[in-house]
Amino acid sequence: MPTRLQSPEAKPPRPLTIGGEDFYPGDRGVVDIPIGSLIDYQPVTMTVHVLRGKKPGPCLLVSAALHGDEIIGVEVIRRLLRSTALKRLRGDLIVVPVVNMPAFLSHSRYLPDRRDLNRLFPGSPKGSLGGRLAYAFLNQVVMQCTHAIDMHTGAVGRPNLPQIRVSPGDHEGYEMAKAFKPPVVIETSLRAGSLRETLYSRAKPCILYEAGEAHRLDSDAVRYGLRGVVSVMRYLEMLPQEKRAEGGFSSRRSRTVVSTMTSWSRAPRGGVFAPEVGLGKAVTPNMELGVVADPFGRHETPIKSRVDGVVIGISREATVNEGDGLFHIAVTQDPARAESQILQSDEQLEEHQEERAEPFVGW
Ligand SMILES: [Zn+2]
Repeated sequence: MPTRLQSPEAKPPRPLTIGGEDFYPGDRGVVDIPIGSLIDYQPVTMTVHVLRGKKPGPCLLVSAALHGDEIIGVEVIRRLLRSTALKRLRGDLIVVPVVNMPAFLSHSRYLPDRRDLNRLFPGSPKGSLGGRLAYAFLNQVVMQCTHAIDMHTGAVGRPNLPQIRVSPGDHEGYEMAKAFKPPVVIETSLRAGSLRETLYSRAKPCILYEAGEAHRLDSDAVRYGLRGVVSVMRYLEMLPQEKRAEGGFSSRRSRTVVSTMTSWSRAPRGGVFAPEVGLGKAVTPNMELGVVADPFGRHETPIKSRVDGVVIGISREATVNEGDGLFHIAVTQDPARAESQILQSDEQLEEHQEERAEPFVGW
């Protein structure tokens, strides 16, 4: 009998190994990766969902709560996992709803030793708890992926307009950022020890979604996030293209504002802070953005913008110290146009039909 030549298709598919478990095309499962233990002897684990399409394609990581009090991405991922669109997945989707469980448990941005996990990459297996966490996440999860979306929020009382941050020179990341269709895309430099820097140095495209504030869910921030992740998956051809309704939302051009520089307007002195502009609003040099007043009614000092741009972050604190950052502004050449583009983005989100979801059954 002649030896039958095996076609490339006949080769057994290679497993995707996460946390020591093998996943084959068509598999869907959950792994708890051990990280260490806490003061009460309780184990710390990282829960990872792995969804493999039957057909090959990119491997996308979607992660949230790298800072433990930034919850919007956790909710985006919860809704993403129920989306019926995932039945038609091509390639692999790896999602980590809570990267930093020790910080999540204490409602804190930081690890129990007050360190910032997003400054500890690439980590070490013999380092601090955070260093071990960074190492396990990077080596057991992140390195399996070809593309990444990491989800963050502003600090407590400092909400951000939904925005994507991308590293200068990350060309594929920039295409993902545009596909996400956020109101604003900002090119920001890399911070040493961050996940984004680590991925950049390994030539893996990565975008960072920033929306809303710590401790809180915000409906628009969640909806922009979910729509954005699905849109990026369509761009990467992991999901089929959206059916374009004649004259409907899908046929309209994206209105994303792109900025390469941001600026803070700070409190000129301490006191009671009364803002006069909100998120998404256009500002011009010397325009009054609000005032800081002394609580006894003797002084009132205007807060001025130094640049042309739109407000992408704001402080909601009623009392401030001199120097506190009050307005974060994305610099743009035509602020009025940028403000109207942001308004149109919000209108498009209103019209967007949310992804259909499976009834909740748990896993
Ligand atoms: Zn963060």
